[in-house]
Amino acid sequence: MKPLSEKTALITGASAPNGIGRAIAHKLAADGANVVVTDRPGQIAIDGSMKCTTHLLDELVAELSTPSTKARALPLDVTDCDQISSVVHQCVADFGSVDILVNNAGSLAGSADFLTTTQAEWEMSYRVNVQGPMLLAQAIIPYMKACGGGRIINIGSTGSLGAEPGFGAYTAMKHALVGLSKTLASEFGPDNILCNTVCPGYIATDMHEAANVRLAAEACESLEATRKRRYASVALRSAGLPEDVAHAVAYLAGPAGRYVTGINLPVAGGVPMGI
Ligand code: NAP
Repeated sequence: MKPLSEKTALITGASAPNGIGRAIAHKLAADGANVVVTDRPGQIAIDGSMKCTTHLLDELVAELSTPSTKARALPLDVTDCDQISSVVHQCVADFGSVDILVNNAGSLAGSADFLTTTQAEWEMSYRVNVQGPMLLAQAIIPYMKACGGGRIINIGSTGSLGAEPGFGAYTAMKHALVGLSKTLASEFGPDNILCNTVCPGYIATDMHEAANVRLAAEACESLEATRKRRYASVALRSAGLPEDVAHAVAYLAGPAGRYVTGINLPVAGGVPMGI
């Protein structure tokens, strides 16, 4: 029997082909879970052409589905309260409950020069990085309680633990996410609901590369020079892979993580947390 057999996991922000959410979906499915993969409806650029997230999620479902693993794709913009409640109802109708919630969707909105960050960018960062995970937890915890427990894994960042210049709103919101995780861990521990924050460092995804491109332009240096400069601060001297984060999530979601709650788990190759 696989460690997550008979469990159902809901993962947000899972469509990007080289994203952390997709790697988490693959790992939890490989460990035996049924998976509901979600993302906001829209288009993303891949290799120079635009692809629809709905189509990408359907491809992911095809990759994940096996005779023993059910996978389902649902559109979910985590800033939309009505969509959250409809997705949770759909999951419960299809699978009976949600045993594992992975709040992976994230946004770099408001990551720029602090003095020019707008209130709208700050609010968008809050809505994606903090309010979405909060509303999803609120909607799912009653079902977890009724089933005798569950696991909530919030994808924070090393920006949840320290700060790098130029990521103001993102850093503030990822810190707030740790506060949310610790609150859930302490309030719902007695219900056997465990909540932890996984904190990726530099992980080679589109979001990370977009940050590299911006920082290179701001510093008037080549992209390669920016990457070299950033990775020089990492003990392992390179970016990690989405799968590195997925393994940490699987540990916290599975039987081996049964006595671990309220922690921040960096998956960062030894990034100094700085200030
Ligand atoms: P990614 O590939 O851009 O994945 C983020 C996903 O979240 C995208 O599919 C994105 O969709 C989705 N998303 C954005 N706004 C959303 C919304 N309102 N509703 C639903 N989905 C939404 O980036 P990633 O690197 O895999 O990031 C995954 C998580 O890891 C994020 O929480 C990020 O903050 C965290 N993280 C990443 C790194 C890193 O170095 N990669 C480091 C630290 C933390 P769109 O493409 O449509 O925007």
